[in-house]
Amino acid sequence: MKGTKMRFVALVIGVLISVSCGFSQCPIIPAPVTFVTAAGQFSFGEDIAINSDNAPSGIIDYAANRFTNTFGIRVVISPSAKQLVFKKVANVPTDYYSINVGETIIITYSSDASCFYAVNSLFQLIQGNPDQYSIAKCFLKDYPKFSWRGLHLDVSRHFFTVDEVKRYIDLMALYKFNTFHWHLTDDQGWRIEIKQYPKLTEIGAWRDSTVNAHYSTTPRTYTVEHTGGFYTQEQIKEIVQYAANRYITVIPEIEMPGHARAALAAYPELSCTGKQHGVEGLWGVFDDIFCAHESSIQFLKNVLDEVMVLFPSEYIHIGGDEAPKTRWKKCAKCQAVIRENGLKDEHELQSWFVTQMDMYLTSKGRKLIGWDEILEGGLSPNATVMSWRGFDGGVDAAKQGHDVIMSPGSHCYFDHYQSKNSTEPLAIGGFTPIEKVYEFNPIPSSLTAAEATHVLGGQANLWTEYIPDMKQLEYMVYPRALALSQVLWCVEPPSFEVFRSVLIKHQLNYLDRFKVNYSRAMCYPEMKVSRKEDGLGVVFTAADTSDQLSLIVRVDETNIAPKFPDFLIGKNILSFKRGIDSVVTYRFEVKSEYMPKPSEFKMTIHPSIGLNVEYITAPDERYNSGGNLTLVDGIIGAKPWKGNEWVGFDDQEIEFIVDLGKKTKIDRAELNFLEDIGSWIHLPNFVRISVSTNGKKWAFLPDKPIYKAQGCGKHLPFAFQIQKKARYVRFKIVTYDTIPEGMPGEGHVQWTFLDEIMLFSK
Ligand SMILES: [Zn+2]
Repeated sequence: MKGTKMRFVALVIGVLISVSCGFSQCPIIPAPVTFVTAAGQFSFGEDIAINSDNAPSGIIDYAANRFTNTFGIRVVISPSAKQLVFKKVANVPTDYYSINVGETIIITYSSDASCFYAVNSLFQLIQGNPDQYSIAKCFLKDYPKFSWRGLHLDVSRHFFTVDEVKRYIDLMALYKFNTFHWHLTDDQGWRIEIKQYPKLTEIGAWRDSTVNAHYSTTPRTYTVEHTGGFYTQEQIKEIVQYAANRYITVIPEIEMPGHARAALAAYPELSCTGKQHGVEGLWGVFDDIFCAHESSIQFLKNVLDEVMVLFPSEYIHIGGDEAPKTRWKKCAKCQAVIRENGLKDEHELQSWFVTQMDMYLTSKGRKLIGWDEILEGGLSPNATVMSWRGFDGGVDAAKQGHDVIMSPGSHCYFDHYQSKNSTEPLAIGGFTPIEKVYEFNPIPSSLTAAEATHVLGGQANLWTEYIPDMKQLEYMVYPRALALSQVLWCVEPPSFEVFRSVLIKHQLNYLDRFKVNYSRAMCYPEMKVSRKEDGLGVVFTAADTSDQLSLIVRVDETNIAPKFPDFLIGKNILSFKRGIDSVVTYRFEVKSEYMPKPSEFKMTIHPSIGLNVEYITAPDERYNSGGNLTLVDGIIGAKPWKGNEWVGFDDQEIEFIVDLGKKTKIDRAELNFLEDIGSWIHLPNFVRISVSTNGKKWAFLPDKPIYKAQGCGKHLPFAFQIQKKARYVRFKIVTYDTIPEGMPGEGHVQWTFLDEIMLFSK
């Protein structure tokens, strides 16, 4: 890319986008099964009289607090009260409740939990009404689809206080989540007091440094600071009770055999090598894991004994993910366990390890749950699988008759980016906008009705490497959690458009009441690129909400002046023609009242924008958001990657053809690949190029070692000499065999991520 001097040309265009909304929609999220409105209002003035009948006193107290603290409404509780009446009913679906708002409000419920859900729905009805001292008359009945509606929180990578965890639980309760998966141990911190092993928290709860910026950034730098924390057993009990009062079960996760560096820092004798390491300050997957010898197994059983006393949950999560076998392969103690038990290899050793824990937990009347890696080497008989690497692990487990929680990274990882905007705070990578969360269906079509009964539900995971505080945590979780709550609760979720309308009209205000630092990403303007015959078209769109957008266009380089017609955002398309050999970067700065600061979009106009690309190898559907335009859409992938600008493949050979439309002199090609070893994304081994004038006869270019182009800026594309006349250029990208031992994802086919192809004629 040439030219370092920039000339800015600025245009400012303000545009008003207007919207209409439906007014009879149900303001409640998750949406109830049935909702009908009637004419008139029920008014309760500044106080409300409640006849609680035999409803649980804890729920009535909770309701009274919320009436007073959230809405400023005083509560009188009396057996003769008629304003709000509770009644228990039977012979209805599990966790059924109904609310009838007429001359009085009558709540029926079938279980304590459903009584609690009814109260939460009632508050959303009050919130949905403008004056808050009355409710539009209506009737609703409701019950959930899935029994496991979960949110997860990693308190190891960053520690969150007791009060912060309680707030996390409070917000979950608003949206009828019922399972809090508490990730208590990992490489970067052990967070639960275990009386028998005090060093776990004396040593394991504290680290001396934390990596700065994205962990793939080079060179790495660290903040040297003693940080951490842990929960005493008394605090754990307090949180478990706090959650139980909100009908939320806390599932503890004690990671094993991997992600154990904090425990091994405290007790190095539990590792294979016995070497002393500190608590880890870097993110990733580490070779040192629990040894599989008897003393480590016994240690973990002793830990689980104390865990089971603190957590009454049926399920105990033992992790089981991302355990490299590097140390086990070289450990005499582990190899002895393999021999003595007639195991085939280290994968079967992992299965054996998990089975020890499964038998132990089962003997205590509990159930083991683990990440889908516990399928490797054979699944332990009573285990429940939490499927995170897509849906396949969950499908396999359900077909084998095991229970499953679906939590695929594609839809349920709230540590991923939620918009393409440059204003997004640093995240680990990946792209999971709220629309994607809303597409989540925990039951894949490949399961039969009988197999599907093994899917208990779903949950979102919140890994906190890049989430240092509560403010950022809420930004990542809300409002995506509302989309998740709806798809896990509703038997028939309303359309995304209806969901978004309710969210914007009713729920954002509701979240404001609780001072939640939610993201407004679903209201952000977007840049959409389309293919035109001679290049690309670009249009800016905004969500269907009233917003004043302004657009500033800046052009790097000097040789093309921006000549844009008068255009309206959302209507007129900016056109960019393929140049001969110039590369020009346009920057669009879009301002919107919803965004904290302007978002910047970049377009790189190069000689192959908008050309036709035919994929011989289909990209993975998770990483193919732009179809066959992504490789020629003028959008250079962000680093650290955000997911949507890249095309991802998990094949060892990747082929595609670029069609220039007519016979053209081609000097060279540049391909822009991504490397992110922690995400299993590697550069290719080599690229073979062939050219053709008719698409039938192909002339192969001599195999040349690929080289990184010099002087191309920070993206360092791979460049190849072509020096031929042709219409078609065919690329065959060949990866290394599999990810080498000792690296994250060892033994798997690497991911190959490509964002752009540029063909130059001189
Ligand atoms: Zn070992």
